[in-house]
This record gives sequence, structure tokens and C-alpha cells, in this order.
Amino acid sequence: MTVGLNGFGVLLVMVVALALAQIAAIRERAVRDPLTGLYNRRYIDESLPGLLELDERALVGLALVAFDLDKFKGINDTWGHDVGDKVLRRFAQILADCARRTDLPCRMGGEEFVVFLVEQEIDGVAIFAERVRARTEEIADIAPIPAGRITTSAGIVLRHRGEGLEEMVKRADRLLYKAKENGRNRVESADSIEADPAQVESG
Ligand code: GH3
Ligand code: MG
Ligand code: MG
Repeated sequence: MTVGLNGFGVLLVMVVALALAQIAAIRERAVRDPLTGLYNRRYIDESLPGLLELDERALVGLALVAFDLDKFKGINDTWGHDVGDKVLRRFAQILADCARRTDLPCRMGGEEFVVFLVEQEIDGVAIFAERVRARTEEIADIAPIPAGRITTSAGIVLRHRGEGLEEMVKRADRLLYKAKENGRNRVESADSIEADPAQVESG
């Protein structure tokens, strides 16, 4: 009788463990972008408030890099959507390769990506963004795209004290827009906007 109960208990534990594993797998799928495997916008929206709170309390220092692939529509139009998808996957791989364990790369949608970094100095963020930019420009093995055609622009910001996710993303996007205006395939930081008196007056 005791053996029977133990057997039932073990079975129950196995069923519960299996159910929990399935729930975890479903949840993991819901916060991952299926094309690149990176976290998606939903994950950012759900997990960032906790990260921001941690930063408020412990002042770990948070930074954000917003990336947008350059003239990506032209890649789709010229070589097809499947080739475009390969480019997106490769770019995601570059982000994952360049990221440290504490960095959080994410595909926000389309050819737009962000990476959150635990970082207090803008120079460290710039080094990361520049490395990603350079490695993207070096892609030479996605046939028939010619070497040097795939590039990315980026805007980088350090989090201001008390700043929410939306405002941080907005500032990074403004810098990204500036990188596009300034010729693409480049990284713009807040310093470059603050050094521009017209931007300071208007913003
Ligand atoms: P810019 O340098 O100004 O960023 O120009 P762009 O061509 O990159 O920007 P635009 O917003 O005009 O084009 C983005 C393109 O990304 C258009 C859309 O069809 C394509 N796209 C969005 N999601 C996917 C996807 O999952 N796969 C592929 N292959 N293309 C996608
Ligand atoms: Mg875009
Ligand atoms: Mg683009």
C-alpha cells in the first residue's frame, strides 16, 4: 500500500513538473521573436519596469542602443524577402555575439533592434555599438548581396535618473534619425546632439 502511494506521489510530481515545463516553454515562445530568436517587444515591455526599478535602487547604470538597418527595403526589393530574412538573422547573430551576459538584445519589429546594456559610461556603449556597426558592414557571405551593402545606423543613450522606458527609446530614436540624416552606417550619441546648439535650443 505504501509503495502504491509512493508510486502515485512520484507520478503526480512528474505530471506537475511536465506541466510547469510546458508552461515555461509556452511563455518563452511568447517573448521570443521566431525569426531571430531574440527577445521581442513584449518581453521588453514586461521585464523592463523591473530592470528600471533595480537601476533606481542600485544605480547599476542602464544604457540603450537603437539599431535600424540601412536601406533594408532595397535589399528585399532587389534580392527578395528570403534574402532579407537571412540578413535579419545574421544581424541578430552579430548582436548576440557582441553582447555580454548582462546585455539584452531585442528585435522591436521589422529591421529595428534595441540592446539594453548595464553600463555607466557612454564610451563603453559607443564601443559596443561601433563593433556591431563594423561587423555588419563586413558581412560578405549572404549571396548575392555585395560586400559592404548591409549596414546599420545606431543611436545610443545613457538612462537619465528617473527616466522611463518610452522616453529613453524616444531619445535613442532621435539620435538614430540623426545618424540616418548624417549619411547612415554610423553611430550617434547624445554628446553629438548636445554639442549642436540648434538641437539644444529646440529640444
Ligand atoms: P532606412 O535606411 O531609412 O531605414 O530605410 P529602410 O529601407 O531600411 O526603411 P523602411 O522602413 O522603408 O523599410 C523597412 C523594410 O523592412 C520594409 C519591410 O518590408 C521590411 N521588413 C519588415 N519586417 C521584415 C521581415 O520580417 N522580413 C523581411 N525580409 N523584411 C521585413
Ligand atoms: Mg526602420
Ligand atoms: Mg531601416
